[in-house]
Amino acid sequence: MSRRPFIAGNWKLNLGPEEAAAVARALVSAIADRGDVTVAVFPTALSVSAVLDAAAGSDIGIGVQEIEAVPKGAYTGGNSAEMARAMGCTYALVGHSERRQLWGETDERCAAKVAHALEAGLLPILCVGETLDQRKAGQVEAVVTGQLEAGLATLSPDQVGSVTLAYEPVWAIGTGEAATPAQAQEVHATLRGWLRARYGAIADDIRIQYGGSVKPGNAAELLACPDIDGALVGGASLKAESFAAIVAAANP
Ligand code: PEP
Repeated sequence: MSRRPFIAGNWKLNLGPEEAAAVARALVSAIADRGDVTVAVFPTALSVSAVLDAAAGSDIGIGVQEIEAVPKGAYTGGNSAEMARAMGCTYALVGHSERRQLWGETDERCAAKVAHALEAGLLPILCVGETLDQRKAGQVEAVVTGQLEAGLATLSPDQVGSVTLAYEPVWAIGTGEAATPAQAQEVHATLRGWLRARYGAIADDIRIQYGGSVKPGNAAELLACPDIDGALVGGASLKAESFAAIVAAANP
C-alpha cells in the first residue's frame, strides 16, 4: 500500500497577513516540482485570506489551526469550519498539544471537532502525543491509542478514512530534539496496528504524520520509515526554503 506523503506547515501564531503571503508566494515557486506529495499550510486565522490569495491556482492546501464544533453562534474568538470552508480552506488541525495544554482541549471536544470538520467539508488532522513524563512512565502506547480512540469515537469507518493523524510527542515540539526514526516508527506502527484492529484495511490508507522538530536535516530519515507518511512541521515551516527542503525529502 503506498500512501501519498503529506507535509503540513503549522505556522502557529506567527506571520501576519503580509509576511504569510510572502512565504506562501515563495513556497508556490519553491515547490513547483514537488512531485507526488500533498502540501498544506496552516496560517493564523487572521492570515488565511492573504495566504489563500497568494497560493491561488497552486496545489498548496490551506487549513485552519482550530475550529469550534458548531457552525456559528456565541463563541467569542472561535473559528467556524463552515466559514473556513467557504473561504477556500481544505483542512483543520484538531487536538494540537498546545491547544490541549494551554486551552484545556479535551479528548471529547477533539472528537466533536473531528466529526464537525468532516460534516463541514474540511479534512481534519488529529494530533496525538505523549509528554516526557508519560514516556518515562512507560505510558506512550496507552496515551496515544487512548487519544486516538477518543478522537475517532463518533465517526463511521468511512469517515475515519478521511482523517489524517499526526503523532507529535510533546517533548519534541519546538525543542529542537526530534524523536529518533526508531522511536517515531515504533509509535506510528502502534497507531496503525490499533487502526487495523479496529477498522481493518482502512488502516493502510490513513496517513500518519510525524511532528516534533522536523528540519531539513532529519526529514529524510524520518520520512523513510515505513509507517511515517509525512510531517507536521512547526518552526521549519516558517521559511519557504526550509519547508521546501522538507517537501523535497518526502518526494518518493
Ligand atoms: C508543531 O507545532 O506541530 C511542531 C511540530 O512544531 P516544531 O516543528 O517547531 O517542533
